Amino acid sequence: MKNVVLLGSTGSIGTSTLKVVEDLPGELRLVGLAAGNNADLLVDQALRHRPALVSIHDPIRAAALSSRLEGIPVVSGPDGLLQLATLPEAHVVLIAIVGTAGLAPALAAIRAGKDIAVASKEILVMAGQIVMEEARRHGVRVLAVDSEHSAIFQCLDGRPPSSVRNLWLTASGGPFRDASLWPMDALAKVTLHQALKHPSWVMGRKITLDSATLFNKGLEMIEARWLFDVEMDRVRVVVHPQSVVHSMVEFIDGSILAQLSSPDMCLPIQYALTYPGRSPNQRVSTDFARIGSLTFENPDTDRFPALELARRAGTVGGTLPAVLNAANEVAVERFCNNDIGFAQITETVARVMDNHVVIPQPSLAEILSTDQWARDAAHAIRFP
Ligand code: NDP
Repeated sequence: MKNVVLLGSTGSIGTSTLKVVEDLPGELRLVGLAAGNNADLLVDQALRHRPALVSIHDPIRAAALSSRLEGIPVVSGPDGLLQLATLPEAHVVLIAIVGTAGLAPALAAIRAGKDIAVASKEILVMAGQIVMEEARRHGVRVLAVDSEHSAIFQCLDGRPPSSVRNLWLTASGGPFRDASLWPMDALAKVTLHQALKHPSWVMGRKITLDSATLFNKGLEMIEARWLFDVEMDRVRVVVHPQSVVHSMVEFIDGSILAQLSSPDMCLPIQYALTYPGRSPNQRVSTDFARIGSLTFENPDTDRFPALELARRAGTVGGTLPAVLNAANEVAVERFCNNDIGFAQITETVARVMDNHVVIPQPSLAEILSTDQWARDAAHAIRFP
């Protein structure tokens, strides 16, 4: 039996993780759950799984929750996340909190000797070097939950970075892939409703918007660089609208391995939680005849400059990836609040990156203060 702590249990990845755990009752047990604000769903999940501890972001809600949890202890805030991440009975901590709140619990879990399963790519984008070094020092695994990185992990199957010519991340291309329907001037007028319509995946709001700008793929490039210890110029992106090939590894002899399935996040979540084993599951089945064809094309970096910004951030390194991540988070929030247009998300990130003086080899404190600087800078940018 593997004991799992789930941070972000009420979100898209969180609720899929509950399905996976419920599919494998003899193998996986939830011993801790953390949510942001969705108290009702958290209570429902807790009463179904009876974890040892739950956490909710707001301390006032935590006080109100106690009476509904039938004796399950409840904690709150950043400290609550740390308590869950270091719970003695936990074997693996799955981090699926949107944004940067997962970084401190990820490091705490590693230092407490837990494997971490990472959905929150922000953690590796901001502090990939620190997280991977800590994991090596403490002899714990960093397991990929993102479908692309799970695919690469499965294809690599323990082979060293020296055996890799290129890692190929596949991208659906998002809702605005077709340049004939969405030329540059049309992208400038995109509405929130249009940007939230992802063609192949159902996900949380932030990642869905990041998929529309292609910042999601940019963040994934940096995530891959750290997870698999390859330089940015060996991390490549190809657009694959069917989202069936989840990613590929091109080895030094020219041979390419890919991992395929119909898109369903339960599959990479289950793989991360049952690793190194594989467990039966009927949830995902792939009908190739029905899919018909698998197509590939180069990403359009003129309409989607996010990819090149991410490549620059990952190549320069230091604090620049944290700047890209934080500025993008603020720009997405400003777009949601109708404060800036869709194309200005990328423009905001580019301008904040241009204004940043990079700190090479930053400490965690420097990364966190840079994150705050970039947020303030992204809020301050004005467009005519
Ligand atoms: P959602 O927005 O659907 O869910 C976010 C979760 O984080 C919710 O449970 C939310 O709680 C919780 N949360 C937010 N802030 C806090 C906090 N301060 N303390 C505790 N919990 C908090 O996001 P997704 O599930 O889509 O994505 C989560 C992460 O996984 C992101 O980093 C994303 O990039 C990554 N990811 C997602 C994929 C997907 O298919 N969705 C695929 C690959 C990666 P509440 O709802 O209660 O407020």
